[in-house]
Amino acid sequence: MSVCLGCSSKWHDWRWQLRNRLRTREELAAYIDLTTDEEKALTEPIFAVGVTPYFASLMDRTDPNCPIRRQVIPLSAEGRGIGHLHRDPLNEEGLSPVPRIIHRYPDRVVLLATEICHTYCRHCTRRRRVGMMEHGLTMAELDRAIAYIASHEEVRDVLISGGDPLIYSNRQIERIIARVRAIPHVEIIRIGTRAPVTNPFRVTPDFVAMLRKYHPIWINVQFNHYREITPESARACSLLVDAGIPVGNQTVLLRGINDSLEVQRRLVHELLKLRVRPYYLYQCDLAEGIEHFRTRVAKGIEIIEGLRGHTSGMAVPTFVIDAPGGGGKIPIGPQYLISQSPEKVVLRTYDGKIVEYPEPDV
Ligand SMILES: *Cc1c(COP(=O)(O)O)cnc(C)c1O
Repeated sequence: MSVCLGCSSKWHDWRWQLRNRLRTREELAAYIDLTTDEEKALTEPIFAVGVTPYFASLMDRTDPNCPIRRQVIPLSAEGRGIGHLHRDPLNEEGLSPVPRIIHRYPDRVVLLATEICHTYCRHCTRRRRVGMMEHGLTMAELDRAIAYIASHEEVRDVLISGGDPLIYSNRQIERIIARVRAIPHVEIIRIGTRAPVTNPFRVTPDFVAMLRKYHPIWINVQFNHYREITPESARACSLLVDAGIPVGNQTVLLRGINDSLEVQRRLVHELLKLRVRPYYLYQCDLAEGIEHFRTRVAKGIEIIEGLRGHTSGMAVPTFVIDAPGGGGKIPIGPQYLISQSPEKVVLRTYDGKIVEYPEPDV
């Protein structure tokens, strides 16, 4: 449950939350007892700092390892430069045919609608752009992006992302969506947003009433820890799902925050209760400033192995590594196929039994 510090009648107003993001050491010190390292990192942050009062209210005042706090308060480790890290680990700039479009896969594109977020995640992989310039999409950029999609008939899926597209007003979002929807070969529109998690008041009945005019719309959110599931975030998801919008979740595997089977199991169970489907579990990208969040690949495999078979199939996300250099998402998981011959395959079950499956006789 979120507590309104200095409780304002505006607390439930998403614009108030956005306008009143906590950005400085002094403002954040009202919510938590800052450690020396946090104070140091907040003095000259190398990546945008901004936390909605709502999300800040979920932080534990005294625990420096609080999973909410670690996602939004910088540490000096962000300044560590390491050889294998990159500004643009997924080569998104190289795959951008026109500004604000990323075209990596044959049939779908990302449209980067803004660099602004309700709350800046310390593990942001797009930090080379995000939070750098707090301005939105210009009309000229939107025109070019729409012209690109319209002239590429193979694009059947458009993912509106950023930044967080839900920093815009309903009317501004509608202006983008209506233009994408008017392109005949675009079958589905997806929105990537963390607003239901970091500023859940953004999801209003008016907003979902607008979206549902443009179906099929899908939304992907990012819950990383079960402690982000509150009555407010649950209400936001429920408004979306009730409007017929399937909501998926993309979790980033973060060291010290959610890198255990216990946390992940509880998270996916809570998500299913909200009718939110765990979609991806991401291995951290090789982005500058997030090395301290990286886990060993074996950790993600172990989590999937601990979920698959042991709980509802819908609760199990696909663990992926986004290929360094821009090759796309690669699914990684436990090995269940032990051997393969022309006659049969040898498999193992989730609880370790060996079984044979004969191939057809042709
Ligand atoms: C993740 C991503 C997509 C969508 O991938 P799905 O596996 O279809 O969810 C599309 N384009 C880019 C550039 C991406 O990074």
